[in-house]
Amino acid sequence: MTESKPLVVRSVAAMRREVARWKAAGETVGVVPTMGALHAGHLSLVRSAIAGCDRVIVTIFVNPTQFAANEDLDSYPRGEAADLAKLAELGADLAFCPNPDEMYPDGFATSVKVEGLTEVMCGAGRPHHFGGVATVVSKLFIQSQADRAYFGEKDFQQCLVVTRMARDLDIPIEVVPVETVRAADGLAMSSRNVYLSDAHRTIAPVIYKTIRDVAASVREGQAPAAAAAHGVEALKAAGIERVEYLDVRDAETLAEEWPEGRAARVFIAVHLGETRLIDNVAV
Ligand code: AMP
Repeated sequence: MTESKPLVVRSVAAMRREVARWKAAGETVGVVPTMGALHAGHLSLVRSAIAGCDRVIVTIFVNPTQFAANEDLDSYPRGEAADLAKLAELGADLAFCPNPDEMYPDGFATSVKVEGLTEVMCGAGRPHHFGGVATVVSKLFIQSQADRAYFGEKDFQQCLVVTRMARDLDIPIEVVPVETVRAADGLAMSSRNVYLSDAHRTIAPVIYKTIRDVAASVREGQAPAAAAAHGVEALKAAGIERVEYLDVRDAETLAEEWPEGRAARVFIAVHLGETRLIDNVAV
């Protein structure tokens, strides 16, 4: 029997029926959680999942609980038909596209909070964000019963948070980080890049250039705080006025100091006009 791929399902029950069939046949299952508006970064996660698992679920859900009231929930780019066409081309098995009521039925009252990791960087600037992420991702992990989940290193803090959450809640899933996909000029692909004006798009590559320069300075022995301060100056000189943070931190704990020999990363969030962009690189 030939199946049309991806099978589009909107209910948890329908997804579980498919997954039960796959598991009965001994197949491994990968899940790729997304908010849609799929670009080359998302598709790289899907390709990794297809390479690593027998069956692949891509979830498309613009999760309202990870947006604050003043953020871009209503204007967030959406395009299900185009997303499904991209997934068909790659051969993903199932697209889980629930409505908000399916994920948050009347009376929904539970949230998942990961302490520590969520209190710095993006968590400091967006205090509700990671609670929404941890809650929806724990639901997606439990609903899909996947063996592996693929997340982009572009959202490195999110990778750490969902890994911690799965470990703490004994959800038997392996979180697989996937390298950041970039435009030719270095800008990390993001669904929010479509918001950038032409002028802002032209200066945006300085974000990646700057964090690479900061990483190089730290590798060469400069104090992280001094290297970061220098980076902020470079961003301002290039026309980026609002730097939310530019931090060098332990790549596992996000602490500002780390023991000799442990990996560190440079993390950044900036605002270009109304658009908030993040990125990170290894030191
Ligand atoms: P989003 O739809 O923005 O919630 O992202 C869904 C997944 O795609 C997350 O795991 C992101 O980290 C990942 N992702 C977003 N942008 C990129 C990128 N440029 N390269 C790799 N993964 C990405």
